[in-house]
Amino acid sequence: MLLENGGKKPLNIAVVGGGLVGSLEALYLARRGHNVTLFEYREDIRKTPQIRGRSINLALSVRGRRALKDVGLEDIMVKEHGIPMSARMIHRPDGSTYSIPYDARTNQSIYSIGRNYLNSILLKESENYKNVTRNFNHKLLETNLPNGELTFIKTDTKEKVSVKADLIIGADGAFSTVRRAMLKQPLFDFSQQYIEHGYLELCIPPSEDDTFQMPPNYLHIWPRGNFMMIALPNQDCSWTVTLFMPFVNFRSIDSESKLLEFFDKYFPDAVPLIGEKKLIEDYFNGSPSPLITVKCRPYHVSDKALIIGDASHAVVPFYGQGMNAGFEDCTILDQLFTKHSDNLADILPEFSNTRWKDAFAVCDLAMYNYIEMRDLVTRPSYRLRKAVDDM
Ligand code: FAD
Repeated sequence: MLLENGGKKPLNIAVVGGGLVGSLEALYLARRGHNVTLFEYREDIRKTPQIRGRSINLALSVRGRRALKDVGLEDIMVKEHGIPMSARMIHRPDGSTYSIPYDARTNQSIYSIGRNYLNSILLKESENYKNVTRNFNHKLLETNLPNGELTFIKTDTKEKVSVKADLIIGADGAFSTVRRAMLKQPLFDFSQQYIEHGYLELCIPPSEDDTFQMPPNYLHIWPRGNFMMIALPNQDCSWTVTLFMPFVNFRSIDSESKLLEFFDKYFPDAVPLIGEKKLIEDYFNGSPSPLITVKCRPYHVSDKALIIGDASHAVVPFYGQGMNAGFEDCTILDQLFTKHSDNLADILPEFSNTRWKDAFAVCDLAMYNYIEMRDLVTRPSYRLRKAVDDM
């Protein structure tokens, strides 16, 4: 649905990155009547098989739902596709479990959503807007942000493509090329931190009669002090299982017998669910991925360029808020377009000046929540204070 824009001339806006945040932002801008060109490095995700190593599902929370509601997609994502998770289910080392509700008072849930499905729905929805053009296989190479200029290379034909836009929005993820160009701007602060832990994705398949092998309406956690495993339910009754652990521990498990010994000791109830053969295959065919936090500011360059999503605040995944915070960026930006009648010279600085505190807070909370999930969640509350002090 197009919004009334008071007869103003539409802006030509280039969105770099057709991931979750870029494709949502394209919808928000298209609804305002602007001409949006989306440039995405990869092929159209709707035509490619699942990419291993990218989390297959994500926890959608109220920030993300709000944004999806704005663009008319909340019902399809939450009611038709999402699997509600109303509590954490904690798995003890002896295999017994107990649950901790997220919201015991009003019983709100977070929702497990397929990453590819969500991205596909956002891209498909953009086809309903004539003012959105999608360019896949376009990798951003160079920028002149103050002039609104971008140069891409087409990954299939190797042809170079140059464009000029009224506004560049960099939604090109944690290793953003748009952000890299901002590093040259005076007074641009930037820090990144890799943590010592990585993650590896495993899978619990559906049971033989195509049902869930564990109760589905929970985020399952196996907290083990310095490491943990989690599982989120998928629509096909499988589970995306993610093992978070220091890289040094991943490296020390270098044989099938060591792997089975490790799982039998720490995650005995998960072994029959995953299956020994599949566990060995998935563990040794994958390699653990690193986790990074990025903080930077300001997020804009004059009235020409802005970064949002992971490009502006990459967070470790333990708070389940990376995408949700990126979606909230889009909501806030939309509110500023309304407040300032699409005047970029007012919108961009206000976004930078007001957003960074929340973005920095999410980065810090996500880091803290790893300790909470892998360790503190199992401790009686009187010991919590000491554990936090010892961190
Ligand atoms: P991305 O998803 O990284 O998309 C960036 C896009 O830009 C990509 O499509 C990429 O191909 C494209 N691109 C990159 N470089 C270029 C270039 N040079 N030219 C053109 N295009 C380019 N968040 C949650 O809210 N809930 C969760 O439960 C959750 N779980 C997670 C679990 C794990 C294991 C991880 C690693 C992350 C998790 N996150 C979660 C975080 C979430 O995945 C990210 O915050 C989210 O994907 C950010 O979206 P984005 O669009 O900003 O970046």
